Amino acid sequence: MAKKSAVRNGRGTRVVGQKCDLPLHEDFLSACGGELAAREIETIQVNVGLRCNQACLHCHVEASPIRSECMEPAVMQQVVDAAQRMECRLVDITGGAPEMNTDFRWFITSLHEGGLAVQVRTNLTVLLEEGYQDIPELYRRLGVKLVASLPCYLEGNVRAQRGNGTFEKSIQVIQKLNSLGYGIEEGLPLDLVYNPRGPSLPPEQAGLEADYRRELNERFGIHFTKLLTITNMPIGRFFDGLAARGKDEEYMNLLREAFNPATVEQVMCRSQINVRWDGQIYDCDFNLALGLPASGLGSIRDLHPDAVVGRSIVTGDHCFGCTAGAGSSCGGSLV
Ligand code: SF4
Ligand code: SF4
Repeated sequence: MAKKSAVRNGRGTRVVGQKCDLPLHEDFLSACGGELAAREIETIQVNVGLRCNQACLHCHVEASPIRSECMEPAVMQQVVDAAQRMECRLVDITGGAPEMNTDFRWFITSLHEGGLAVQVRTNLTVLLEEGYQDIPELYRRLGVKLVASLPCYLEGNVRAQRGNGTFEKSIQVIQKLNSLGYGIEEGLPLDLVYNPRGPSLPPEQAGLEADYRRELNERFGIHFTKLLTITNMPIGRFFDGLAARGKDEEYMNLLREAFNPATVEQVMCRSQINVRWDGQIYDCDFNLALGLPASGLGSIRDLHPDAVVGRSIVTGDHCFGCTAGAGSSCGGSLV
């Protein structure tokens, strides 16, 4: 008999038909031993707001130039304090375009002065905009690690996903970052992020990295540290776009069919938390986008190490996006 399953997107829950024998949420939980339990925090990911100079088709938080959500300095200070208290290994800053938060420079400087390792997820193009061109030098001075979106080494694919001119601008910014030592010198990593344009899984990470390295070097003289392949999550603008074309169920089935229990051990939420611009804590940026706060953690202001380890992570059908094929996380494939 055909199973039915709830598929949750950013706007609530609805029920769709489900092909027989595809794994369901309970199968996901069985693979985790009944629940997905958190370990000690290694990384605090911070979403400093949703303003962005782009409005990409695959954006899971639906960022754009008109979004006004923004982290205030008081919450940033609470993040600095909590990261020190928790002795976390990395503070990973995301958005939107994090650079567009007006207190961003102060925040990364405070983290650095507090002895914390800082990583920023940049869309590259913002660094060419008026008012942001000083930031690459600041990144270098503070030794900030960079993770940059470049969803393909071909212009057409990047344009279709991120808009006209984004490929050329991204290349220009990578060249500038290379000239500062990023992607070349030890201690200045520049990782690039690939995600598929359509409803498919990413190719094998190492093979694609070799293609990126060859193509980008031959055509533009560009260097980078690592390529991270990331699966498009079944939420936000990407999933809404699929739903508008009647392809959402097909994509969910693809993710379920490719469920790989070996990835569950490594999913990123087990060793990181995500802080929203107002201080609310989530298990990951996807749960933030879906409005599913972490269980029992509350606000970053009150975060206590004892509440973190062993808590049950809030999961749903969207988690199949992290566990399909080789798995996916903000650090690329999992196995
Ligand atoms: S995917 Fe990144 S660059 Fe694109 S709109 Fe979202 S936050 Fe901005
Ligand atoms: S979607 Fe979030 S909660 Fe689910 S497995 Fe991925 S990181 Fe963990």
